[in-house]
Amino acid sequence: MTETLAINGGRPVRSTLLPYGHQMIDDEDIAAVVQVLKSDWITTGPKVAEFEDVFAGFVGAKYAVSFSSGTAALHGAAYAAGLKPGDEAITTPMTFCASANCVIYQGAKPIFADVTEDTLNINPDEVASHITEKTKAIIPVDYAGHPADLDSIKEIAEDKNLTVIEDACHALGAKYKGKSVGSICDMTVFSFHPVKHITTGEGGMVCTDNGESAARMRRFRNHGIEGDARQRQAKGQWYYEMADLGYNYRLTDIACALGLSQLRKLDENLSRRRKIADFYNAGLKDVPGLILPAVKNGVIPAWHLYPIRFDPSKFRAGRGEIFAALRAENIGVNVHYIPVHTHPYYRRSFGYQGGEYPASEAAYETLISLPMFHSMSDEDGQDVIQAVEKVFRWYLQ
Ligand SMILES: *Cc1c(COP(=O)(O)O)cnc(C)c1O
Repeated sequence: MTETLAINGGRPVRSTLLPYGHQMIDDEDIAAVVQVLKSDWITTGPKVAEFEDVFAGFVGAKYAVSFSSGTAALHGAAYAAGLKPGDEAITTPMTFCASANCVIYQGAKPIFADVTEDTLNINPDEVASHITEKTKAIIPVDYAGHPADLDSIKEIAEDKNLTVIEDACHALGAKYKGKSVGSICDMTVFSFHPVKHITTGEGGMVCTDNGESAARMRRFRNHGIEGDARQRQAKGQWYYEMADLGYNYRLTDIACALGLSQLRKLDENLSRRRKIADFYNAGLKDVPGLILPAVKNGVIPAWHLYPIRFDPSKFRAGRGEIFAALRAENIGVNVHYIPVHTHPYYRRSFGYQGGEYPASEAAYETLISLPMFHSMSDEDGQDVIQAVEKVFRWYLQ
């Protein structure tokens, strides 16, 4: 009916591949990094505390503790929550594996609770039904940048005396019932990987209002040692104590300088992502059989991803073929996520066979993430809409 798909030998919508995510680094960012490289402290120096203070202020938390990655930050939060062998923590299968791996790092067991069909965020009823006397923490993930049902989760946690570690690696800048993500749960974890809202190359942060948790995490990221080298140098001291087993999970001053510079552009990045989401919503709402991302009342998502789904009964091709057709049009689509429990490691270690979490597994069969990043142009967005229309209309029954 329409033009021949690129996968069948037609002309692709674009001549070059549009990635699904990409960083934006400008001359200001580069100058900030160069300045640190020329200074005395390229790690454990003054930029670390400066980045943490500005970041905490941005999200409205008392403390922010930086880590060498979002994954290390999740590990730090799992440690600060006191997770240990014999404990359980509940998280979602619809996430990047790090949300669950951090529980295993502490010798505890991740327990999955299925998602709701609309937002693909963890379902509070499923959380409640998976709580045992071993449960110590709940780790909701703000899928795609849309905050989870945090009030319901906090209510369950308060009732059972559990710690809530919000994995907000998708949700820097998101709002939930008027509050900033980062100021809502016991601990909130962010990532500065290049596809996220701001980048430090690799990097992560945990925000909390709990001074004791913050102190534990500062020790944990520095081998379990109290204080740091610069404090000792300033005081002319050499003695230090390793109070607990920790890791080297420090974020460098080089990275923190980049983070500070990137943070100045966060508001702009967020409004650009929201504009692209509006553009997709308007441009794709009339394509038959497509399911666009849901947004709940009281939520302003941060739009890390723009995941679409489709009604499989309306198309004569499955996700694999549709995905390949979009790639052939040079649209760098992706899939978020392969449900965590279905990965070989999880099957082998915990005996999952697939079928345990039907809402996540059904969603996975039709999920496709469209390109979503703040440096995309309007023309890039137009190409995505054109390619999605072209491909989905072609395969319509
Ligand atoms: C990116 C991400 C992480 C891990 O962050 P890294 O900085 O890559 O280690 C954890 N959880 C989710 C949901 C993520 O998207």
